[in-house]
Amino acid sequence: MEKLNNSIDRSWIDKRNQPFIISGPCSAENEEQILETANRLNSSYVQVFRAGIWKPRTKPNNFEGVGKKGLEWLSKVKKNTGLMLATEIANAEHVKLAISFGIDILWIGARSTASPFTIQEIADAMEGERNQIILVKNPIHPDIELWIGALERLLSKGIRKLGVIHRGFYTYKNSKYRNQPNWNLLLNFRKKFPRIPILCDPSHICGSKEGIFDIAKKAYHFQCEGLMIESHCDPDSAWSDAKQQITPENLLKMLKELTYIEKYDQKSQKYLDSFRIFIDELDENIISLLAERMNISKKLGTLKKASDIEIFQPNRWKDIMEKSINLGKNLGISEELLEGIFKLLHQESIKIQNQIR
Ligand code: PEP
Ligand code: MN
Repeated sequence: MEKLNNSIDRSWIDKRNQPFIISGPCSAENEEQILETANRLNSSYVQVFRAGIWKPRTKPNNFEGVGKKGLEWLSKVKKNTGLMLATEIANAEHVKLAISFGIDILWIGARSTASPFTIQEIADAMEGERNQIILVKNPIHPDIELWIGALERLLSKGIRKLGVIHRGFYTYKNSKYRNQPNWNLLLNFRKKFPRIPILCDPSHICGSKEGIFDIAKKAYHFQCEGLMIESHCDPDSAWSDAKQQITPENLLKMLKELTYIEKYDQKSQKYLDSFRIFIDELDENIISLLAERMNISKKLGTLKKASDIEIFQPNRWKDIMEKSINLGKNLGISEELLEGIFKLLHQESIKIQNQIR
């Protein structure tokens, strides 16, 4: 672990005194879309043009990317605009092709980071490519060790220009996010590996245009070195992730409004604000769990009605209360607090079930 942190080469990101911004479409669709999007990006704010050439899709028969010919379009972008290039790679063949077309930054997608076999294949293909920058997106689920493991596999092949991208984590809960951000985990990551650059991908966290600005602001608050934001010359007609892409002009407006935050210490107001962000995030989780609990209560109410069962079951209630208080005790939560909360929950549940009856 110590080795990972100390071996990181930050030269590619430190040479700029401004946030590192990667933008471009989710997928390359055709040459015109690529060139137009790239031309409309403002190169004073955006350093890297991104486009997915090989797309990992959840279900088969969706658009899976244009493949190699997209790399030719990307080469033209570099020639026309001078922007650096980035694309997602997921196997050894992708690595070889992308490097042969002069792609400056390769990123590993969230689904690939979750697979040690895939990462090992990529790392093996990277052997000898010491100058290549590789960004590793967080795995789909919040397993920080799996994320670190991917970095270690790359490092062991001599890749030192590494960075990570926070793109949020899958959640089964109802959530306003497509992928739940986890700032607390990110802060722990930073504490363990202060030298590894962290970028944030608000587009895949939000899954919609709304909220991108707020997540980008939080990313800066948590001292992320940069952002990856999807942009498209005509977002509504995009072949993948249409809902979350924004125009290059809207991106510029957003970037101008964001102010990069200077480093701060534990005594500052900013540090305090971090904890408020954690609390807000946890409150959102508590509320969505409460909604889920109430939904089950409703279903239970319907079943009890159909089977003509008494709504209030004293033994079951006693059992819930005892179990909750014991669990809380082990976690350092006071008995009064839990008793109060569970009484309220129980009352609400009974009320809902009475309404059904
Ligand atoms: C992408 O960047 O278009 C992408 C597929 O991202 P992720 O791996 O975060 O889902
Ligand atoms: Mn996408």
